[in-house]
Amino acid sequence: MAMSDARPTAHAGAHREGNPHDPSIASGPPMPAGQQPNRYAQSLSTPGSFSVTWELVPGRGAREPAQEQALSNALEAARGGRIHALTITDNPSGRPALSPTMLGIEIRALGIEPLVHLTCKDKNRAQLESELYALARAGVRNILALSGDYPVEGHQGRPRPVFDLDSVHLLQLIGSLNNGLPVEGPKGVAPLQPTQFFAGAAVSPFKREEAEVLTQYYKLKKKIEAGARFVVTQVGYDARKFHELLLLVREQGWNVPLIGNVYVLTYPAARLMNANEVPGCVVPDSLLRQVAAERQAPDKGREARLLRAAKMVAILKGMGYDGVHIGGHGLKYNDVEFILAKGEELAANWEALLPEFDHPQPGGFYLYQRDPETGLNLPQRAPLGRPQRAPGSYRVLRFLHRWFFTPKRGFFGVMQATARAVDGSRLEGTFDFLEHLTKSVTNDCQHCGDCALFDVAYLCPMSQCAKSQRNGPCGGSHEGWCEVYPGKRKCVYVRAYERLKAYGEQETLAAYTVPPPDWSLYHTSSWLNYFLGRDHTARRLGIRPPAQPPAPSGEGVRHGVAEPQAGRPQAQS
Ligand code: SF4
Repeated sequence: MAMSDARPTAHAGAHREGNPHDPSIASGPPMPAGQQPNRYAQSLSTPGSFSVTWELVPGRGAREPAQEQALSNALEAARGGRIHALTITDNPSGRPALSPTMLGIEIRALGIEPLVHLTCKDKNRAQLESELYALARAGVRNILALSGDYPVEGHQGRPRPVFDLDSVHLLQLIGSLNNGLPVEGPKGVAPLQPTQFFAGAAVSPFKREEAEVLTQYYKLKKKIEAGARFVVTQVGYDARKFHELLLLVREQGWNVPLIGNVYVLTYPAARLMNANEVPGCVVPDSLLRQVAAERQAPDKGREARLLRAAKMVAILKGMGYDGVHIGGHGLKYNDVEFILAKGEELAANWEALLPEFDHPQPGGFYLYQRDPETGLNLPQRAPLGRPQRAPGSYRVLRFLHRWFFTPKRGFFGVMQATARAVDGSRLEGTFDFLEHLTKSVTNDCQHCGDCALFDVAYLCPMSQCAKSQRNGPCGGSHEGWCEVYPGKRKCVYVRAYERLKAYGEQETLAAYTVPPPDWSLYHTSSWLNYFLGRDHTARRLGIRPPAQPPAPSGEGVRHGVAEPQAGRPQAQS
């Protein structure tokens, strides 16, 4: 369904009567005999239950105070019984830390569910799969699938970012493992034993620009289609934005539990987030001023920040969220218990607390019209900004695409016949060189051979997105700028949205999932791969190579199927 098609079915701010989700969807795959039920999955599918996770940060090192503290917090949480899962970050802020897989295994042994963050920044698809096998073998089932922060620090300098997959691909991989991955063996293809992962995704409603907000939601749609079973928000303090996400999920009929992020805000953290030093976390000036004033108190603002967290719990519960994800530096289990108990106490009057969480970003975009009574949202969509005129380069590329690359139009047949003639001939190297030269000038082409220009409004996600995101923005953009180049480069999805919006086509960014690049096509001609049915776009559009003229000997030709050639990657159907 197009994201603008449906209208909300639930009114803003209504209390939720029990859990509205289909238990069979939220609770994950059936458990094999002998395996303990997944308490976290159950907390999201049991009517009336309000799920609670607490974030632990493993820290750098193996046996440093940070790891010992994390384990001692885990032990207290296991004894306390209020927490449904402990979430463990994966190299947060792009810095190395103890593997969350290792800590997850240790935590599970303490008798509490771990929820392991798995990110794509430091591992390619093979290593992610391998990590998932390790987790499955150890009985760790809850995963938060993320693209991850850009790596910034490591041994002898900045690490090389990987981003072979994005979070949508990672969810697809997990889904394949849950379904029993078919693997080629000596006796043919056979499925592996299905895993029981319960995987979720993250989203940030707290973006300022219309393009950032909409593209976050387009990507969320793909994550849900890829099998996300729960959705956790990024860190933010604007109640109207939390409510916007809730309305959108209801409007779209997405059957997925929502978890609100409740970060206990110290002054140093608030200052860093306000300065955009923590990717994706939003603290506007109005809130920073509040936190600065609170720290003048004799307890340095401790009580005020715990109370703020409790009020957020109350609001999220009252609004209809399915749970909270509590985080914050230096938190103890007692603090978490206080936040939950106080939140429970305040939940009955949650609407009275809303004015304390009215922290809009200046000029910030909201998807729905404001409800003047509550300060939240009405179910009606807000108008979008006026489209800008698309840049000339984009208009030229659209024209060329229409006449040369659109099946059954213009010169497509000629191009395909040319591709057939050039492919494997002595001219192929020159053809490839000229294509690469042209696309290097227009798009800083990385010569990946599995071109995604068609998918991102003729902007290359391999060269112009620092994280090679092919399905939508990461969570780190800030006021329209790229997480990695703030103030210097606009996020590639902000640019793509604006280009497409000029033609009313922005929702095409949500229309289908772009697969990860097929590296067997690396440094080959993407035009040949397209016209001859070898790349992902050709597969999506059903492009098949043209039939070859009959060979004189009558051998070596199969009608409509690319002929195998030595050293040449073949189409994957
Ligand atoms: S271009 Fe956008 S999606 Fe890519 S790294 Fe920058 S902010 Fe993230």
